[in-house]
Amino acid sequence: MKLSIGYLYPDLFNLYGDRGNVKCLEKRLQWRGIEAEIHPILCGDRINFSGLDMICWGGGPDRGQEIISGYLKAIRHDFRAYVEDGGVVLAVCAAFQLLGRTYTMREQVVEGLGILDIHTQWQPARLVGNIILQSPYFKAAIVGFENHAGRTDIGTYPPLGKVVFGHGNTEQSGYEGIVYKNLIGTYLHGPLLPKNPEVCDGLLERALKRKYGDQVSLGELPDISEHRANHYMVERCRSAEEKHTAIHFGAFGFGNSRKAGKDNKRESANTCRKQMDRTADGEKYDE
Ligand code: GLN
Repeated sequence: MKLSIGYLYPDLFNLYGDRGNVKCLEKRLQWRGIEAEIHPILCGDRINFSGLDMICWGGGPDRGQEIISGYLKAIRHDFRAYVEDGGVVLAVCAAFQLLGRTYTMREQVVEGLGILDIHTQWQPARLVGNIILQSPYFKAAIVGFENHAGRTDIGTYPPLGKVVFGHGNTEQSGYEGIVYKNLIGTYLHGPLLPKNPEVCDGLLERALKRKYGDQVSLGELPDISEHRANHYMVERCRSAEEKHTAIHFGAFGFGNSRKAGKDNKRESANTCRKQMDRTADGEKYDE
């Protein structure tokens, strides 16, 4: 078996180690004896979508988004057809924003691919820091790092997960990322996949099934270091939160709890701590 992975725009979009996602996809295929063919695609290159089983596109600065925007028109039609046909996509941060219709910056509006009916609005205060999600699609917590000025309104699309610690799509919504068919859009760098092997395998499995049929499944890997890295981040955020809580007598700063009123802040702190315990145990959130 073999998967061909389109690595979009490493010349412009490669923030915070996002290239590690491509390496992770490649390695986890090879460890199972499956061939991985990586196709770096540079700004302005033609893309043969029918030859790709997966697309991986990382984050980048506003300037890179302005530059690429003009080139997106040429690939919009084929990219949309690929997504609608169940093509697998991982789009991180700037790429997540550019899958949508517009990214409204301070002085101009950058036009995206419009594959997703979503909009992003620039705001001066950047949303920066470690982030933890609970996702109905995955058992383990999803951990990462976010740094974005854009706030993305995903409308009625399902999010990737609920923010347990950090900011997420808009800071207000309490949710992060987007899922559409076999596409995942997310603000999570880190890079995302090495610390979240379940997400990596979920994408690989979808691509393999699409190409070779539903009977294909991926064998287990030991993932000792990967799980250790994931749990380390959960613990680190939990202790940061506890310190914060102790200093502010329960005034709390993450996920939905940020919106909690003064009187129920202590209760929110406890609820969120419980959520994080469940996250560490790999349970799904229930809502
Ligand atoms: N430039 C975009 C923003 O600031 C995306 C940043 C990123 O990819 N980390 O919102």
